[in-house]
Amino acid sequence: MIKPPEYIQTISPYQPGKPVEELERELGIKEAVKLASNENPLGPSPRAVEEIKRHLNGLNRYPDGGGYYLKEKLSARLGVGPDEIILGNGSNELLDIAVRTFMTRDDHAVMAWPSFVVYPLAIQSIGAEATRVSLIEGRHDLRGMADAIRENTKMIFVANPNNPTGTINRKDEFKELMDRVNDDLLVIVDEAYYEYVMDPEYPDTMGYFREGRNLLILRTFSKAYGLAGLRIGYGIGRAELLAEMNKIREPFNTNSLAQAAALAALDDDEHLRRSIEINNEGKMFLYREFGRLGLEYIPTEANFIFIPKLPVPAPELYDRLLKRGVIIRPMGQEAVRITIGLPEENRRLVEALEAELGKGA
Ligand SMILES: *Cc1c(COP(=O)(O)O)cnc(C)c1O
Repeated sequence: MIKPPEYIQTISPYQPGKPVEELERELGIKEAVKLASNENPLGPSPRAVEEIKRHLNGLNRYPDGGGYYLKEKLSARLGVGPDEIILGNGSNELLDIAVRTFMTRDDHAVMAWPSFVVYPLAIQSIGAEATRVSLIEGRHDLRGMADAIRENTKMIFVANPNNPTGTINRKDEFKELMDRVNDDLLVIVDEAYYEYVMDPEYPDTMGYFREGRNLLILRTFSKAYGLAGLRIGYGIGRAELLAEMNKIREPFNTNSLAQAAALAALDDDEHLRRSIEINNEGKMFLYREFGRLGLEYIPTEANFIFIPKLPVPAPELYDRLLKRGVIIRPMGQEAVRITIGLPEENRRLVEALEAELGKGA
């Protein structure tokens, strides 16, 4: 039988969760609360849904492979040229394309750990090597990451905010990193939760881009815009870099409904505003309730909260909450990551936590 290369054989596959409908059936529960994947609990923008309906009868046609209208709109919004924007089947795909465009298996990448699981997957899929630099108090150790740069380092991944911890690195630290990298290296700044960030010290990565630095800024419609199921995200970078990435991109990588929905979602300021508002309110509610339950959490700049140390093993808490119809994400043995939901969902989470852990657990 044909075998893949050693570096593929040794990948531990991403474990997809079961569909919510299946969990509900197996556990005999109804209306499970899903707080496991950092999705927008408000749902998609109603304007996006309308726009999708309008495009359904055109599904016999291939999508616009150049994403003309969406790039035009983003370009006007962001004040960059359309050739400085690349669209992806989720920002996930853009990570993969960037790695395949700029790296060979003899190259090296630097990333923080724990961080987004897709980074090591992308690197391993081409057989290259990555150094994982441990977080310090839940945050990227950008100095340590700069220290990890080698002769053959081609890429640095910075998730800002970081997933799973929800923390950000601030302007001064980010500047220090940028001062230490030269231009034969690409810094990928993954800003999937950009819209949720409240900290005024959040780095202005667009400023570095305008200075002509080698930066790929990744953003997505999957989180605050509520379109995770459609798979669409975008990257901002120098036209010369994106032109190289476009050479290996699938010609029709973003589908027509996703493009139409993203265009409409960009015009729905009210939906975005409410999404952020609901997140901020939920955050304050959960901070208070976690405090009451004696659960230490890491303050978040995103739409999820990381609890680094639980009084019970994380997989066990996951199972127990699941039986109560609340789905969270265990992270290793000690920690969990919980997406901020709607007020009612947050209340159900707190009730379930209280029942399982008790007050002052
Ligand atoms: C959710 C998430 C993304 C978004 O991925 P899409 O492919 O755009 O859905 C990217 N990076 C991080 C760190 C995330 O948590």
